[in-house]
Amino acid sequence: MLKLNPITDDPLDVYDAIVERKRPTDRRERLQKLRRRIQSAYARYDRRKPDLEEIVPGRFLDAKEDLLRCYKGPTGPRNKLYAKIKGLSAYWCAYCTAYTTATLDHYLPKDSYPEFCVLPANLIPACSGCNRPRDFRDSAGKRALVHPYFDPVPPTDRLLIAVVSVKDGLPRAKFSVDVSARSPFSKLYARHFELLSLRKQYGAAAVHVLAEAVRTVREWGAELTLKEAQVKLARQATAEEQAWGANYFKAALLRGAARSKAFLEYCFSGGT
Ligand SMILES: [Zn+2]
Repeated sequence: MLKLNPITDDPLDVYDAIVERKRPTDRRERLQKLRRRIQSAYARYDRRKPDLEEIVPGRFLDAKEDLLRCYKGPTGPRNKLYAKIKGLSAYWCAYCTAYTTATLDHYLPKDSYPEFCVLPANLIPACSGCNRPRDFRDSAGKRALVHPYFDPVPPTDRLLIAVVSVKDGLPRAKFSVDVSARSPFSKLYARHFELLSLRKQYGAAAVHVLAEAVRTVREWGAELTLKEAQVKLARQATAEEQAWGANYFKAALLRGAARSKAFLEYCFSGGT
């Protein structure tokens, strides 16, 4: 996952700008009347973050369709907001970092919390695999989604582990979260990993990264020993970590590949 800084636009200014462009006029007027209630809902979000499982949905049932239109119906200000937030993570999905950003995910789902559907702090750049209809809690009601803006994502703790092996003649990787680190964050991260089915998502994405690593190590193999190639691969993993954080998908995978003697031998053997 990535740690991101939210955009700094005043959230009520964003709401006002979007509402101002809403048609028909009666919808715009209804949304303008909601402003004070939206303001207090935004204040609740701000007070509770990141423990957002404690937020009770506001009673916006009658206004739900109007509110959702602020997000669904494209207007200039809404498109500007969308583009600005998508740009926050360069191009990686903030939840998984293995796939590119395709959409904005509503951290608190817009269906249950329509009052937050254009709150910038509730909009996360995400890939289409991570942005599926789902709760942000697990079946026990515990918060199970890391909030990239507000959770204390550790930049250097290596919690995402990839074990790289060679099976049936092909390199593959198995991912897990190290929960032995006794921090509340590692437990939340493990729930995040389960909620988003990251083991499966990462398994699929790993194929391409490992194929690229094999090609690279084979090129080195002409000049380097296996041990030297291992050190160089570990350095590449560190460079990825420094750019994107210790739990960036590719950093974890290259760390795992550099630790795997079987993987390096596979590269050096020609892999037939
Ligand atoms: Zn994703």
